[in-house]
Amino acid sequence: MEKIREAILNGASGEQLASLPLPSEYRAAHIRKADQDLFAGVASEDKDPRSAIHIGEVPMPELAPDEAVVAVMASSINFNTVWSSIFEPVSTFGPMARLGRESEWAKRHDRDYQVIGSDASGVVLRVGSAVRNWKPGDKVTVHCNHVDDQDPTSHDDSMLGANQRIWGYETNFGGLADVAIVKANQLMPKPTHLSWEEAAVNALCNSTSYRMLVSRNGAYMKQGDVVLIWGATGGIGGYAVQYVLNGGGIPVGVVSSPEKAKILHDLGCEAVIDRRAANYKFWNEDNTHNESEWRRLGADIRGLVGEDPDIVFEHPGRSTFAASMYVAKKGGTVVTCAATSGFMMEFDNRFFWMRLKRLVGSHFANYREAYEANRLIAKGMIHPVMSQVFTLENTGEAAYQVHKNMHEGKLGVLCLSPEEGLGIDNMELRQKVGEKKLRAFRRA
Ligand code: NAP
Repeated sequence: MEKIREAILNGASGEQLASLPLPSEYRAAHIRKADQDLFAGVASEDKDPRSAIHIGEVPMPELAPDEAVVAVMASSINFNTVWSSIFEPVSTFGPMARLGRESEWAKRHDRDYQVIGSDASGVVLRVGSAVRNWKPGDKVTVHCNHVDDQDPTSHDDSMLGANQRIWGYETNFGGLADVAIVKANQLMPKPTHLSWEEAAVNALCNSTSYRMLVSRNGAYMKQGDVVLIWGATGGIGGYAVQYVLNGGGIPVGVVSSPEKAKILHDLGCEAVIDRRAANYKFWNEDNTHNESEWRRLGADIRGLVGEDPDIVFEHPGRSTFAASMYVAKKGGTVVTCAATSGFMMEFDNRFFWMRLKRLVGSHFANYREAYEANRLIAKGMIHPVMSQVFTLENTGEAAYQVHKNMHEGKLGVLCLSPEEGLGIDNMELRQKVGEKKLRAFRRA
């Protein structure tokens, strides 16, 4: 791998990269099937990703005709890195075993280890014989929608594909490694004004927020919409705030500290609620709902922007869901992609049907949506929300910080890139966008 890294850092051509032999093994952050029961009986919040994420060499798989081998310069931590490493809500070895039964090529995914990670930026080293649009030397980012394009159900909205999967979560050969194996239809051009790590953190969260808010498949926000955003300085929330501001909406960002509130103000989000200071108690001790607290949240939102939210950007799940369903405006939309605090939801249906609201389930993004979201990053219209950068060796610690909500925005991970700040090809665009916007989430 060292020769490949050096060649990339020295600006080798595609032909030169294609002529370098691929190693038989590569360094990767991985989890092990043997550890699936590691946390049996341990409470979710006490399960520690650092015990389950291993860094070490894994074998290089054979390349399928529709795939590419990518030298990963940087990757990022997603919440699914946490889920896979604490084996919740299910162990990911089950989905990979099912994938392995689908075809001869798919069998490769069913192993006693999984290379995790659902984001990457890097350079294409090889392409399979069926790949048309990409070649060795191309600088790319990778989105995580793993689609079977021979399945008819994938050809309306590929997220509806019967066997659609998330790469590096429900498949093997993910991005937290020196090499990634991806389908060619996961590739997108790397934004030229960004470093490797800045380019690596966006695809999963940025595309998810794009679909939830901008796409016809999501809430389809319009100018002037008031949008309540939970976790507004988190991974998906940090992009959601930018989409609302770009689209002429009015974001109301919810965070849990004055430091996070400041990040939002700096982004241009004027209406901010510190949920910790407000101390909302949506649930009573006896597991019943405290409706007066829903009303208090609603009153706080009206106090800030004068009206109820047209859209609620929901993902904390059980702890906030009933309140989200209540505060949405009459005719408004709650769009949800997750349930960090628990997936068994309860809400008061009376306020839902009598006030004619809509609930939209959303999951990642199809290739078109991911490509559009990447295009907006590449044009300098949406910016990475990276706060810190870790080495691949420290993947476990980075995942731990996300699990414990000790972070803001996204955590980047250096893979083949030896240091931060490399890989910027378009300084002119970078200067035009400005470091202030590009570093809005960076810790001092
Ligand atoms: P993240 O970076 O950890 O941010 C989540 C934010 O939610 C936190 O910063 C926290 O903000 C807030 N939060 C956490 N628990 C909360 C609670 N009980 N009540 C209110 N707010 C709470 O994670 P992320 O990357 O944004 O992902 C968020 C969720 O979406 C995860 O469950 C992830 O798996 C899921 N997700 C799903 C998809 C998909 O395609 N379906 C894609 C991406 C992410 P404050 O403490 O500041 O309030």
